[in-house]
Amino acid sequence: MVHNQFETVRELFTQNVVPTYGRFDLAFSQGSGSHIFDVAGKRYLDFGGGIAVNSLGHAHPAVTEALIEQSKKLVHVSNLYYHEPQGRLAEALVKLIAPGKVFFCNSGAEANEGLYKFARKFGHDEGRFEILTALNSFHGRTLAGIAATGQDKVKKGFEPMTPGFRHVPYNDLAAMRAAISPATVAILIEGVQGEGGVTPASPEYLLGLRVLCDEKKLLLLMDGVQCGHFRTGRFQSYQRILEGVPGGEKFLPDGIAMAKSLGGGFPMGAFWVRSPYADLLGAGTHGTTYGGTPLGCAVALKILEVIQRENLADNARQVGEFLKSGLQQLAQKHPGVIHNVRGLGLMLGMELVPDLAKLPGDQTKPQSLRFVNQLHAAGLLTIPAGMQVIRLLPALNLRPDEAAAGLKIIEFAVAKLAG
Ligand SMILES: *Cc1c(COP(=O)(O)O)cnc(C)c1O
Repeated sequence: MVHNQFETVRELFTQNVVPTYGRFDLAFSQGSGSHIFDVAGKRYLDFGGGIAVNSLGHAHPAVTEALIEQSKKLVHVSNLYYHEPQGRLAEALVKLIAPGKVFFCNSGAEANEGLYKFARKFGHDEGRFEILTALNSFHGRTLAGIAATGQDKVKKGFEPMTPGFRHVPYNDLAAMRAAISPATVAILIEGVQGEGGVTPASPEYLLGLRVLCDEKKLLLLMDGVQCGHFRTGRFQSYQRILEGVPGGEKFLPDGIAMAKSLGGGFPMGAFWVRSPYADLLGAGTHGTTYGGTPLGCAVALKILEVIQRENLADNARQVGEFLKSGLQQLAQKHPGVIHNVRGLGLMLGMELVPDLAKLPGDQTKPQSLRFVNQLHAAGLLTIPAGMQVIRLLPALNLRPDEAAAGLKIIEFAVAKLAG
């Protein structure tokens, strides 16, 4: 393509795309594995993974093959009919979680929407409808999604909010208990807060929430959209967080939202509900035209197959541990730049010290954004979270040598800000 230069691409957006996103000055044209190329041909190591979506990296041959093979048979039939890929994918997800059933949709916000409706249905006859969520949470950008999200910035300008959501501090069991009202029907949390800055739930919090929900007859819902799909080293983050914790093996939420890595870039979402409630949403109560198409499900099944065959859960755990310890060493060496390193597996957050005098860029912009820009210049993609946190959400098949190369780039950028 002749007109493939950055300015040309950006101009197309400026003229024609609704400007809801603050985009970086980068336009990409192709990728392979954990590398991606911009329109000028510059190569970047991708530690952002399209925001935890590209579970197998870019242009994985198995994904390409699944797309080609399935699209030769059936792309879409609607949910008026049965087809094998959706049934097989639901079976695979149930096996990875616990007895229950799965509903398919197209995004994370939609997966959560399904859980809100599930909770409303559950409490309807008793007049209970309220869902408690955490401060700093993120649950999507639909009207109910922004009401559920515990961050004011997503709500501003869109009031009045959809009723029935209240927020309490995360990892604070006493605050959750105190917030329960006669109208409360469910609690929704992320196992690891993503947009909020990579904060894992504590094992005590998860176990305590389960006891609390049982006591008060509430549903315990988990938003695994970002932290799920083996990112932490186990299929769902609670499985990783509760590993080796007494009583942890018996823990189960009542519903789980999934998306992002599930489709590896093919837009897909899903929610699982635990078996006692699996038929609560009966015929005619919920639906979507595209949810669980043969094409999407074939891709998701292929991704699961590759993750299992190549043992990518262990890879996420090991390469994640290598990255995390590298970042922790860096934080020890440069306490004036890195405040904190958090996360599990390949979901890591590096929190910067506030007011870094040497950090270049527009001072009115958050430090996270300016630091990410520094990394871009050095050939590494990462994702900002909030004002101070840099997120690493690479492909689950990131190789140790690629992790080391990315770490070097971060080290270089951090060293420049130190002293
Ligand atoms: C990304 C995200 C969502 C929203 O998913 P979309 O596909 O953008 O609708 C919801 N919850 C969490 C935890 C997320 O990270």
